[in-house]
Amino acid sequence: MIHPHIDTINNLPWLTRLWRRLTTTTKGPTMIETNPYAPEFTPTVELADGWLACRVCGVATAPTVQHGQDTITSLGREYRGGSPSLRRKAAQEFETTMTRCSACEERRERAVAVNIEHPAGRGQYVADVIANTAVERALAVAAVAETDLKLTSARRVRLAIRYLTTEALGLVWESRFAPVAEAEAHPSTGAALPWSHVPEEGRARARQAVAAFLRALTERPQPTPAPTGGGCYLCGVASVEVVPSRASSAWTEALVSPSSLGGTSTAHRRVSVCRTCADAAEAFGAYGQSAMARLVLEAAGISRKLGIENVRLDPPAWGVMNIEPNPTPWAHIDLDDLREKFETGRVGR
Ligand SMILES: [Zn+2]
Ligand SMILES: [Zn+2]
Repeated sequence: MIHPHIDTINNLPWLTRLWRRLTTTTKGPTMIETNPYAPEFTPTVELADGWLACRVCGVATAPTVQHGQDTITSLGREYRGGSPSLRRKAAQEFETTMTRCSACEERRERAVAVNIEHPAGRGQYVADVIANTAVERALAVAAVAETDLKLTSARRVRLAIRYLTTEALGLVWESRFAPVAEAEAHPSTGAALPWSHVPEEGRARARQAVAAFLRALTERPQPTPAPTGGGCYLCGVASVEVVPSRASSAWTEALVSPSSLGGTSTAHRRVSVCRTCADAAEAFGAYGQSAMARLVLEAAGISRKLGIENVRLDPPAWGVMNIEPNPTPWAHIDLDDLREKFETGRVGR
């Protein structure tokens, strides 16, 4: 007597599918598709008319709760097959209109607020829009890992950007489309639920990144001496304070010409440079006087003063002088004197 019942229950998924095929008239997420325990739950769904995918969590978003519209350009689509015509087709550029859902709009606003409150977290040369996206993506990775980062200090913001932001690639919906679309990424689709397009290994990666962020939070900086030369070739600092997990990036090797750093020799030399000086050189495009002048003004604490752009400085790099390494950056330059001259109007303005 029991067997016929079991048989009926086993047939339920099939019956549900049939029932849906007969009764569903519109596309888009329905009660059945958005229930992850439903037998026919699919992580991505076809978008109904007017609906857009959230560019961050991917969720199919109804017109009434969309926050803005953005065009994401795909430079083509991944294609690994051998057919020349399909390959040509895959190389075609296409655009997808996306939006932000309410939860992701709120997260974006939180990222903007965090950057306003802790401007030092982003690093020196980063523009607002890039910093906002960096923090938004760090928060998005935390959302996938179902944790809260508590970005309540510049240090936390800095570490969140360092450990989480890059992990957002492959997790946020738009990164499946740009610069090149994944083979399965289609403009007419959205996620059935926020992040439902993220496979289990993506969630695991997000959790690992959050764990690395939390580990870094508890680390304490330690003095790390210059690997060669006794100090940074530019600022002369003998040792910098960094947390153990970042020790390998505290110093970098650079090929410099002493003649462009206040010296006489034009022969290139391979030298150690501290992270601060290396970042400045990268921002200015070269190891030269402009980068050094900026570093000296920063060390003197007057780089952001009005009129400072008129100050002409030619500070020599520590490396071209024959002196002991510096206890603090640029100690071979009289920074107090420079600050006083600027403040009394004898230089600049
Ligand atoms: Zn969203
Ligand atoms: Zn330096």
